[in-house]
Amino acid sequence: MSTVEITQNLPLGVTLPIYMDNHATSPMDPRVLEAMLPYFTTKFGNAASRNHSFGWDAEQAVETAREQIASLIGATPKEIIFTSGATESNNLAIKGIAEMYRERGNHIITQVTEHKAVLDTCKRLEKYGYRVTYLPVKADGLIDIEDLKRAIDDKTILVSIMAANNEIGVIQPIAEIGKLCHEKGVIFHTDGVQAVGKIPIDVQAMNIDVMSITAHKLYGPKGVGALYVRRRNPRVQIAAQIDGGGHERGMRSGTLNVPGIVGLGQACAIAQAEMPAEAARLQSMRDSLRAKLEAALDYVEVNGSWEHRLPGNLNMSFVYVEGESLLMGINDVAVSSGSACTSATLEPSYVLKALGLGDDVAHSSIRFGLGRFNTQAECDYVADKIIGIVKHLRELSPLYEMVKEGIDLSKIEWAAH
Ligand SMILES: *Cc1c(COP(=O)(O)O)cnc(C)c1O
Repeated sequence: MSTVEITQNLPLGVTLPIYMDNHATSPMDPRVLEAMLPYFTTKFGNAASRNHSFGWDAEQAVETAREQIASLIGATPKEIIFTSGATESNNLAIKGIAEMYRERGNHIITQVTEHKAVLDTCKRLEKYGYRVTYLPVKADGLIDIEDLKRAIDDKTILVSIMAANNEIGVIQPIAEIGKLCHEKGVIFHTDGVQAVGKIPIDVQAMNIDVMSITAHKLYGPKGVGALYVRRRNPRVQIAAQIDGGGHERGMRSGTLNVPGIVGLGQACAIAQAEMPAEAARLQSMRDSLRAKLEAALDYVEVNGSWEHRLPGNLNMSFVYVEGESLLMGINDVAVSSGSACTSATLEPSYVLKALGLGDDVAHSSIRFGLGRFNTQAECDYVADKIIGIVKHLRELSPLYEMVKEGIDLSKIEWAAH
């Protein structure tokens, strides 16, 4: 009885909990699952088995997936290497290029708001004698192309700048970066995880040499990804980081995850067919969410460039409210806060800090990641819920009260105890 009552109070089209954290992972599209299923059961062959139809069927499915992925990004199928996900793709790209081009130079350029899979890989390379420049970002989250120009020297072998950021959704000037890298003869790698399938990415037009992709941010399965590696103008070489049977043209040994690869291929095909309509729908829902929040609440800020942003991303600070309390108040809505839990303490997000946000503002931030299966009714529900909780928490906040009374908080000398 009680569940019936609860559902009756919900607006039409809303069931709880609501998932709005699609930058962390996305639910699988049922069409992707359907394409994968036979490769778990009747078509279970090893794609490397050359002596029978089980192997041929698996190999055929893998080659179809390679074509689907290549088609989405303007590559050729031979330029696609399968991996276990984007963490592995980023490691393979950066370590593989660093090793292969060691004679040419030891300098790598990246930026401070990259995913940890890029930053920690670069940090490890520093231990092995590589020099890494971490470019800052402007308050809008974008790098300054002049900074990049100045950072490139005669020892620079690689530039690794992500296409779109996983926290603030900000899209970097990838085509400009690619053009500059090609003029300077430097290899350009991009972590394309959040961008591929969401916004148009063309490795030719954008002069991308190497790009990391993962299936589970694209309505595909977890644990499978790809690395695009350019084969001409210029031909990029990558030293393998996993040795064995010589799969994937020697760049990544290991029996292929055929069902996962089929899923990644299908996810790319769907994204390619539906991208324009889906992007427009997400953007309209996202814009309405922002508008509703801003109409009802004061002291809210959007983090990162609004113009250069993924259609499904909204990252907002609700100043004078603590993000974790906010999340607890909306426990039937899955979103992320601007805090990262490291060894039992809450650290403010390093991405938000890089934009110049103070710790308190970073902690008050929420990332809304809208995806294919969200509805306008859900956005309306989430907006109302957030508005209610923020107003409630601010009623309890002495800081908010002082600000409303016109007290300048920055001029207050707090007693230290
Ligand atoms: C999720 C994510 C990764 C890691 O991908 P996995 O496939 O989960 O290893 C890397 N980069 C970005 C930008 C991401 O959002």
